[in-house]
Amino acid sequence: MAIMTEITGKALTPAARMARLGTESAFEVLAAARKLEAEGKNVVHLEIGEPDFDTPPNIVEAGIKALKGGFTHYGPSAGLPEVREAIARDISKRRGISAKAEQVVITPGAKPIMFFTILALVNDGDEVIYPDPGFPIYESVIEFLGARPVPIQLREENDFRLDVDELESKFTDKTRLLIINSPHNPTGSVLTPADLEAIAAVCGDRQVPVLADEIYNRILYDGEHRSIWTYPGMDELTIILDGMSKTYAMTGWRLGYGVMPEKLATGVARLMTNSNSCTASFSQMAMLEAINGDQSGVDKMVSEFRARRDLVVKLLNEIDGVTCRTPAGAFYVFPNVKSFKKKSRELGEYLLQTGHVATLGGTAFGGGGEGYLRLSYANSKEQITEGVRRMKAALAKL
Ligand code: PMP
Repeated sequence: MAIMTEITGKALTPAARMARLGTESAFEVLAAARKLEAEGKNVVHLEIGEPDFDTPPNIVEAGIKALKGGFTHYGPSAGLPEVREAIARDISKRRGISAKAEQVVITPGAKPIMFFTILALVNDGDEVIYPDPGFPIYESVIEFLGARPVPIQLREENDFRLDVDELESKFTDKTRLLIINSPHNPTGSVLTPADLEAIAAVCGDRQVPVLADEIYNRILYDGEHRSIWTYPGMDELTIILDGMSKTYAMTGWRLGYGVMPEKLATGVARLMTNSNSCTASFSQMAMLEAINGDQSGVDKMVSEFRARRDLVVKLLNEIDGVTCRTPAGAFYVFPNVKSFKKKSRELGEYLLQTGHVATLGGTAFGGGGEGYLRLSYANSKEQITEGVRRMKAALAKL
């Protein structure tokens, strides 16, 4: 028996690369919150990064119709032709660019576009610059695939936008990719046209591609979304990551896409053949309705998010020792909690265990998030009000 255990244990020793794979702490905090709930405690959830709305009914109906209509088979790896066409048309109209269907690859959620882009472009030892704080999967996948993660710090005094001079100083002859994310998770910051122009100039000069994570492009409170793709020469260097999860409250349908130079799209489609085969066919038909159908659901959702944003920012700024900027996009706030002189992670844990309000420590998004918490306001006004009330009470005890 002892020998069996030893043999089995050894057989399942993880490959060395597994030690380099990170995770998303949001899922861990959610599990800890669920444990409290299982013990009968009431917890307010401000940790989850997904719209609390249901998918609009016209989209659900299109999904059901597709299921009944036989869209239950494999499709082409890059996506159904009519859906790729619709995405190319929609993204061209919204971004003011001219993208063709051949440049679109549809994936199960937008996350695979991160993985596939890095896999397709980056060699061992190459450097990838990414925002810190930033979506944790960037750093995880860069490291996992044997490249070197080079963080660029986003500072509160710069409204959590990256500083282009500092960015320039991070480039070396090994820089192979820059990742930007606007509107930004976790801070809600938005890059200005001047920022994008300057970033485009730096990347164009050095011929460094940009993975532009624009998943929150429709959740924007002022002005129009601008893509780095629109700047001179950047159509040859940009990979736009976008999808249905946030805009149409479709996280569980797993629908995302990348738009990129055609040569790269061919490689990414081949990665799809080797991993997922294709994105679920009936899901793609629901995506077609989301793109072509009534958009009023999106407008309603964004105006509700705006009201919640204003509420959460006001309530947080009423707490002694907390300051919170007003984010320009996405559905997150990133309040400064440095005055409590605790590690963000510990503070998050304290608020969960003592206050029964689930938030994320800023360091869940990288070292640059120390001193901050991230709250998602994709929750009702009542829950937001109650959650911040609990925070205030728990923080007053410190
Ligand atoms: N990028 C960012 C910045 C995100 O916050 C998320 C989701 N939390 C994604 C990409 C991935 O979205 P999806 O669920 O479509 O894979």
